[in-house]
Amino acid sequence: MLSVASECVPLIKTGGLADVVGALPAALAGQGWDMRVLLPAYRSLRAGAAGWARLWAAEDLFGGPGQVLAGQVAGLSVLLLDAPHLFDRDGGPYAGPGGDWPDNPQRFAALGWAAADIARLGLGDGWQPDVLHAHDWQGGLAPAYLRYRGAGQVRSVLTVHNIAFQGWAPAGLLGALRLPPEQFHSGALEYYGGLSALKAGLVTADAITTVSPTYAAELMRPEFGMGLQGVIAARAGQMTGILNGVDTDVWSPETDTGIIPYSARTLKRKALNRAALEAAFGLTVPGPLAIIVSRLTDQKGIDLIPGAMPAFVEAGGGLVVLGTGDPALEAAMRGLAARFPGRVGVRIGYDEAMSHRLFAGGDAVLVPSRFEPCGLTQMYGLRYGTLPVVAATGGLADTVIGASPATLAAGVATGIVFAPADALGLALALRRLTGLYADRKTWARLQRNAMRQPVGWAASAAAYARLYEGLAG
Ligand code: ADP
Repeated sequence: MLSVASECVPLIKTGGLADVVGALPAALAGQGWDMRVLLPAYRSLRAGAAGWARLWAAEDLFGGPGQVLAGQVAGLSVLLLDAPHLFDRDGGPYAGPGGDWPDNPQRFAALGWAAADIARLGLGDGWQPDVLHAHDWQGGLAPAYLRYRGAGQVRSVLTVHNIAFQGWAPAGLLGALRLPPEQFHSGALEYYGGLSALKAGLVTADAITTVSPTYAAELMRPEFGMGLQGVIAARAGQMTGILNGVDTDVWSPETDTGIIPYSARTLKRKALNRAALEAAFGLTVPGPLAIIVSRLTDQKGIDLIPGAMPAFVEAGGGLVVLGTGDPALEAAMRGLAARFPGRVGVRIGYDEAMSHRLFAGGDAVLVPSRFEPCGLTQMYGLRYGTLPVVAATGGLADTVIGASPATLAAGVATGIVFAPADALGLALALRRLTGLYADRKTWARLQRNAMRQPVGWAASAAAYARLYEGLAG
């Protein structure tokens, strides 16, 4: 099994993609899959590969020589594509000081080319995968090269983590990217007059996945598909949604060393964490204490928060926000803290350790996203008995069972799910939160339900294993 991506924890990360790519090999090892991960040898990774075995090489890899070096990092079998003309430079994986790298099409074409070549012919040590798993647009050309150059027995999977990034390139690059001209039509490579590495992968991969079942269905609709809805709808039969898992070594209230540990049986100790959190932010909150740990963007519905706060605070609620992002939203959050001293606390910044204290100390985590492919913070909330209050979209809809008379009676509710993701929807959800919180017995039951949810990687790893097995035949 060869996985190809532009990011992988613990080597290089800018977003959730890296967590998934880094978690899958260990999760799938338990299912009997030997997975190697191919990544670009960015400058920050190159030094660590000194002495690694060279298992593949090309004299001309889109403008210069390239080689693949194999080694082990933190239990992962890593393959680094060392092509200095493409990857050995200061800056981020996708952009430098002047914005996106202008040769991004060639950079990730090279990654896809090497991946397809390894899948077709194997590595110098005799290893050859039976499935090639590519991630997002940066891996999108791997299934395309595999298909167009002759796949043999090897099958391919493309996972969409974020449809918003599509790997666009001008049509004039078709030849330079070594793509077959006869495939430049709307049923294959052509995308609104140009090229898209993501579309190329979507039309050529044997199977497509995305990171939740609801998002898989949403992607076929114009509001979510961002231009690719038709392409995805045409391949609905090959599309599945598989939820991401949470790293339960890091996210478990019983063993978390950054908090006062507690479990579903010792929920009284959770109150100590709440008291510590209130003290840290100078708050005294009579009702439910909500938290937000998030990028501060419109996608996440953060702009809906200010409108909903006055009524929530009036009803006894409080809020602690940890996040960074859009400057206007950062200012709006600071404004709330100034307007509601003692009730709203805000920390602008990215702080992993503090995020644990928020999940331990909060009663509820607010995730009013307009779209959410999978989402992680609602799952942390479940594990910590910090009930998720989420918009009914994407992975949020798939992981939280909203409290209703029926789900409460059945004893299965784990949070509050609302729709639509707008000001009124959120306001009603917060009113519901205050009401449920006041009913201490029901609340405790919801917490215990939430904490029992299996949000680790086991179920997802099994789903990926079934998919790979079906493909490898
Ligand atoms: P997305 O990838 O769209 O930002 P996810 O919910 O999938 O949303 O993942 C976000 C991750 O980043 C979570 O692990 C969350 O806890 C973390 N995170 C976001 N903002 C912060 C912050 N300001 N401080 C610490 N962790 C954060």
